[in-house]
Amino acid sequence: MTAVILALGGNLGDREANIRAAFDGLKSHKAISKVKLSPMVESFAVTLDGVDESKPKFLNAIISLETSLNPKELLAFAQEIETARGRVRLMRWDSRTLDIDIITFGSTLKATKNLTLPHPRAYERPFVLVPWMLLDPAAVLPGHGSVSQLAADMLDQVVILK
Ligand code: ATP
Ligand code: CA
Ligand code: CA
Repeated sequence: MTAVILALGGNLGDREANIRAAFDGLKSHKAISKVKLSPMVESFAVTLDGVDESKPKFLNAIISLETSLNPKELLAFAQEIETARGRVRLMRWDSRTLDIDIITFGSTLKATKNLTLPHPRAYERPFVLVPWMLLDPAAVLPGHGSVSQLAADMLDQVVILK
């Protein structure tokens, strides 16, 4: 079994219901166990042009789990959940109902066309680091260090909901 961190988020539709549905979907998979959901955080949308306060705000959370799937299989399952929650793939970083990224997969280091591990932009994202710190204050992002330390400078960029 491998310990995995997923980042979930969306800014369209019932954002909380979509994250909770993903949590339930992951829990129901036979090859996935110990699924835990972080508190949720809200923040402004970031587009390729920067922060866009005119777009609907994002709700984000982190899920930790253990799985016997390989990274490719887990990504495929995550994408099935995204599609089931009505995600339409248009532009990168566009508004969406649900996005599920694999942040870390055990200690796997990998960079292929379809999967980079750890997620290459996680270290600079308040909406990933803050809920991750709340779920696991001792977490470490390989290559970048303590998640709590990284998140400490970013606390003012998200609203912690519960
Ligand atoms: P970002 O990766 O910057 O958060 P995004 O989540 O909006 O952007 P998507 O359109 O959801 O990007 O995904 C584009 C592709 O990224 C996916 O089809 C997938 O193959 C690839 N990808 C690479 N690394 C990862 C990863 N660690 N987790 C999820 N998808 C990844
Ligand atoms: Ca993403
Ligand atoms: Ca994604």
